[in-house]
Amino acid sequence: MSFYSVIERYSDFDIEEYFSGVTENMVLSSMRKENLSSKDFLNLLSPAALPHLEEMARKANKLTVQHFGRTISLYAPLYISNYCTNHCTYCGFSVVNKIKRAQLTLEEIDREAAEMAKTGLKHILLLTGEAKGITEISYLADAIKVLKKYFSSVALEVFPMDEEEYRILKEAGADSLTIYQEVYDRDIYREVHLKGGKADYRYRLDTPERGAKAGLRAVNVGALFGLGELASEAFYSGLHAKYLMDKYLETEVSISLPRINPAEGGFQAKYTLGDRRFVQFILAYRLFLPKVGINLSTRETEEFRDNLLKLGITKFSAGSKTTVGGYNDKNQSTEQFDTSDKRSVEEIVAMIRSQGYQVVYKDWEAIW
Ligand code: SF4
Repeated sequence: MSFYSVIERYSDFDIEEYFSGVTENMVLSSMRKENLSSKDFLNLLSPAALPHLEEMARKANKLTVQHFGRTISLYAPLYISNYCTNHCTYCGFSVVNKIKRAQLTLEEIDREAAEMAKTGLKHILLLTGEAKGITEISYLADAIKVLKKYFSSVALEVFPMDEEEYRILKEAGADSLTIYQEVYDRDIYREVHLKGGKADYRYRLDTPERGAKAGLRAVNVGALFGLGELASEAFYSGLHAKYLMDKYLETEVSISLPRINPAEGGFQAKYTLGDRRFVQFILAYRLFLPKVGINLSTRETEEFRDNLLKLGITKFSAGSKTTVGGYNDKNQSTEQFDTSDKRSVEEIVAMIRSQGYQVVYKDWEAIW
C-alpha cells in the first residue's frame, strides 16, 4: 500500500458537495476534539470554519507550544544548480525559459557555504533543478560533503530519486528531504508538467516514502497553492503528511504551504489563496496533526510572517536567495521565484525574539 491508494479512494469525492453539508455545529465539534479524523479535518478546511478562526488559533497556539515549546527553527535554501530538463509551466527554471543557467563547482559551493555560515545558520536546504545528466548523484554527494563542514543538517530539495540513491546521499551526510507534490489533482498535474521525469505523478507521490525507507531523518511535503483547487490541495497534503507520520514512526514529518509567486515565464495561477484562507489552512493542519512541523518561507511578506509566528509555525526560512551563487552576490543565474521577505537572518532573529520566542539554529546533529 502507498499513499496513491489513499488518493484513489477519494477519486469520486466531491469536496464542494461535502462542504455544502458542513454546519457550524460540525465545525465546533471537530475543533474541540482531541483526535481529529479526516472528516474533522475537512470540516476545519471548509468555508463554514472561517467565522471560527480565533478559537482555532487559540487551540493551535496551545498545541504548538505543548509539542514544540516557544521556538522557531531557522533554515535557508542554497541553490547549487538551475539546469533543468523538465517543462513545468509554473517554474522559472523550466527548460523552455531562456534564462541564465549555472552550476556551482565544489570550490564555489564551499564559498557559498562559508558566506551562509557567517549568519549562524546550521540547517540548510540544498536545491537544484532536475537535470540528472548534469547534476549527477556523485556531484550531489560531493556537494553534501562540502556543506557538512559548515552545517549540521543538509536537507535535499532536488529531483526525486530511487531509494538506493537516497541511501548514497544519506551516506554523504544528507539527513532530510523536501519534496512537494505541487498539485495532488491528477488532471491538473498532467496539464502543468508537460515534459521530463516530473510528469510521472505516481513516482513523485511515492518519493517521500522512498526517502523515509532510505532512513532519512525528516521529510517535508506540501502543495504549491495556486495550481489546484485550494481546500482540496490542503486536504490531500494534510492526508499525505498523516499517512507518512502513521507509517514511518521514526521519521519527522513536516508540511509547507508555498503560494505561487511571480517567476520567469509569466505563469498565471488558476486559484488565489488569500491570507485568511491561508491562515485557516495552517490552523487546520495544526489541529489535525498536532506534532507535524509547519514551515513558512520567505515567499510570504514580512508582516504576514510576523503575524503567523504564534499560530502553529515551527520553521522559518531566513535571508533566502533563490539564485545560484546568490550568497556571494554573484547572481550567476536567474532566480527561481521572487521572495517577499528580504530581511537578513539577524533581523528575523530579532523579530522572533521580540515575540517571546527562542530561535533554534540547530536541533539535530549526526553522531557517527
Ligand atoms: S519545478 Fe523543478 S523540475 Fe519543474 S522546471 Fe522547476 S526546477 Fe525544473
